[in-house]
Amino acid sequence: MDGRESERLPADLRRVLLGEEEIRRRVEELAARIDADCPESAGPLLVVGVLKGAFIFTADLARRLRRRHVVDFIAVSSYEGGQTSGNVRLMMDTRQNMEGRHVLVVEDILDSGCTLDFLVRSFRQRNPLSVRTAVLLDKPARHVLPLKVDYLGFSIPDVWVVGYGLDYDEQYRTLPFIAEMRPPEGG
Ligand code: 5GP
Ligand code: MG
Repeated sequence: MDGRESERLPADLRRVLLGEEEIRRRVEELAARIDADCPESAGPLLVVGVLKGAFIFTADLARRLRRRHVVDFIAVSSYEGGQTSGNVRLMMDTRQNMEGRHVLVVEDILDSGCTLDFLVRSFRQRNPLSVRTAVLLDKPARHVLPLKVDYLGFSIPDVWVVGYGLDYDEQYRTLPFIAEMRPPEGG
């Protein structure tokens, strides 16, 4: 964290967890690994960002890739309500066809793992050459499903985080850093 980032922190945010520079460096490392793992001869990589939370991570990661790629997006929503968020619904599908292509799913954060599990399973049914996953944040304490992430940014504690695409009630998505929310008073 750097001093300037905490100075401009809104009152409902407790602290900066990951600063702008730290995120930038990590995204660069992940892009370099993706370049190295996926040869050009395999054709353009299909980068699929999961809306809305991963829109900034997807943009930054894709701009760091040197290999050929195309960017697409998908939108999902989980049914709210207690612990039963295992129900994931497809709200908007990709426009690109996945058949015969290497696909990289780009997600903001892994909580229970239900969203990513749903996406990977549904993409595998579309006859891609491969499906890999890039996830910026992971809360290992919250996993319900055992999942393997190919490119992980950071492991974080079980707190609600915002910024760099992530929201609280649609707010704070465009903060350049990732911050921990202050829990509600008396909650
Ligand atoms: P999962 O399906 O793994 O339980 O949940 C993943 C989704 O939950 C993420 O894509 C994200 O939308 C949401 N989520 C989980 N934890 C956080 C968090 O700390 N902050 C925000 N903004 N979203 C979260
Ligand atoms: Mg999400």
